[in-house]
Amino acid sequence: MPAVDPPLALLAELTHRCPLACPYCSNPVELERASGELGGEEWQRVLREAAALGVLQVHFSGGEPMVRRELRTLIAEAASHGLYSNLITSGALGGEREIAAFAEAGLRHVQLSFQDHEAANADRIAGLAGAFERKLKFAAAVRAAGLPLTLNMVVHRQNLDGIAEMIDMAQALGARRVEIAHVQYYAWALENRAALLPSRAQLDEATRIVEAARERLRGVLAIDYVVPDYYGVRPKGCMNGWGRQFLNVMPSGTVVPCHAAETIPDLSFPSVRKQSLADIWYRSDAFDRFRGTDWMPEPCRGCDRREIDWGGCRCQALALTGDAARTDPVCALSPDHTLVEAALGEAAAAAPQPFVYRQFR
Ligand code: SF4
Ligand code: SF4
Repeated sequence: MPAVDPPLALLAELTHRCPLACPYCSNPVELERASGELGGEEWQRVLREAAALGVLQVHFSGGEPMVRRELRTLIAEAASHGLYSNLITSGALGGEREIAAFAEAGLRHVQLSFQDHEAANADRIAGLAGAFERKLKFAAAVRAAGLPLTLNMVVHRQNLDGIAEMIDMAQALGARRVEIAHVQYYAWALENRAALLPSRAQLDEATRIVEAARERLRGVLAIDYVVPDYYGVRPKGCMNGWGRQFLNVMPSGTVVPCHAAETIPDLSFPSVRKQSLADIWYRSDAFDRFRGTDWMPEPCRGCDRREIDWGGCRCQALALTGDAARTDPVCALSPDHTLVEAALGEAAAAAPQPFVYRQFR
């Protein structure tokens, strides 16, 4: 078993409740209801344990974390333990008063998601009329509170052609950074794959625009760009390796190494309701199972990229091949790579598909 370092960051998924219904949401298809959520005091204990474990950053997320009335208290708890706290929000709830209170409690950064640069399409994708206007006001409130702002733009076939205007919008709203991330196909996005996968021509044009904007805006606006796995020839280093730097506490207290890990059927994930975070990080089968390189099959086992991309994404291997322990099929060296090519071919041939919106079932 490899030596295990302390985690760097904790994703605190405070709730799955959200006023929006994005068809690419990374929350699981089986959403957790409010009755199953950890209470405020349990979250305070999680934050204390995270700091003691060596975590440096906490990302308050959801669903929409501003649904939780205890959010200000949790930000203050994180700050009291020296944790850097970041709010990941849809911006559909709250405004100046809340943001000012969060800043005063110790919040250090806000990531605000937009579904498009244009109101009608943004609201259609979000599944909520008027959401775009609320987000604009929210962005202004973040800047008024003096907090650094990052815009999160999730891009796909149905908004990718507006990528230049998205970058202009980030600048106009006073963001320091914009993260333009193509949809990754898990959970709700996997259900909507045929509606979301862009064509190769769309992707190439978007990439050209991003590269030109990066040059033009160097020193003014940082642009992060995550391309869709399916068009790559090598996978991304998912979570920088399973159980290496990140842990994700879900609304019910279940702890997973990444968003989609609960889809892996033969793994039982521990809960902060029954175990400490330290026990979970250092002594649980779920976190050990795909740590390091010992678990790898060929061709990863003999590959010189095995400690760069860690064999890619386990959840993607599961979703595409039915076996989480195989090489990620987006890797061109994988014996299953034809599955990705088939998905791209299917999406290119398919008629436009309606969205399956995220909702409690
Ligand atoms: S992706 Fe959309 S639906 Fe999912 S939590 Fe974020 S804002 Fe809500
Ligand atoms: S064979 Fe495995 S380690 Fe090598 S590039 Fe592909 S996924 Fe990464």
